[in-house]
Amino acid sequence: MRILLVEDETALAQTIKEGLVAEGFVVDIEADGVSGLWAAGEFPYDVIVLDIMLPRLNGYDVLKKLRERKIWTPVLMLTAKDGEYDQTDAFDLGADDYLTKPFNFMILLARLRALVRRGAPERPVVLTAGSLVLDPSRRLVERRGVPIPLTAREYGLLLYLMRHTGDVVSKAQILENVWDSAYSGGENVVEVYIGYLRKKLDAPFGVQTLHTVRGLGYRLDADAPATTR
Ligand code: CA
Repeated sequence: MRILLVEDETALAQTIKEGLVAEGFVVDIEADGVSGLWAAGEFPYDVIVLDIMLPRLNGYDVLKKLRERKIWTPVLMLTAKDGEYDQTDAFDLGADDYLTKPFNFMILLARLRALVRRGAPERPVVLTAGSLVLDPSRRLVERRGVPIPLTAREYGLLLYLMRHTGDVVSKAQILENVWDSAYSGGENVVEVYIGYLRKKLDAPFGVQTLHTVRGLGYRLDADAPATTR
C-alpha cells in the first residue's frame, strides 16, 4: 500500500510516516501543496493524506485540482479544530474522509485501511456524442470546448438522450424518465424542450444532432452538418 502524505509540519509528518511504515505501508512525504499535487498525478497511490494549511497551495485547492484532473485516489483530509474551514467543505470538494487534528494514530490507521479497502469510488463517466460532451460529475455540457448552460430540465433531457445516443426514444419514454410522475400535462412538452435543446446545442454550431423520427420519437446522433430546409 502506497500512501502520499502532504504535510508541512516536519515532525508530525515523520511521526505519521514511521507509524505507517511500521504497519507495512510505503509512505512518501511532500511538504507543500504544489509538490503534493505533482506527486499525486505522477505516482499511483492507494490513498492520499492531505493537510489543509499548506505552503504554496492549500489542501482544498490541491483536492479541487486533483478532481479536476480526474485523479480519484481516495483523500483523507487533516483539518484543524479552529481552522477557517469547515469539515463539510472537505466533503463538498470530494474528500473521502477527514480527521481533526490532533488525532490518535490508531484512528488514522483504521480510517486509512477503510479507504484503501473501499478503493477509488466509481465516478460517473463523461458522455460524448461527436463534439458534444456531458460530464455528470461536474454537471457540465460543452461543444467544441464551449460551455453550454442548460436549465435542470434541459440537462435531464439531454442526459437521457445521450445515454441512448443513436437510439430512437419515444416521447412517452422521455416523459417517464425525465419528467416526474406527478407531471400530468401532454407529450407536447417534450417537443418544446427538444426545441430548446436544438437552439442551444445545435443551431449555434451549425450541426444537427437532435433528430425527429416521424411517428416514433427522437434520436440523438453524433455531429452531422445541418441540412438546409
Ligand atoms: Ca499544515
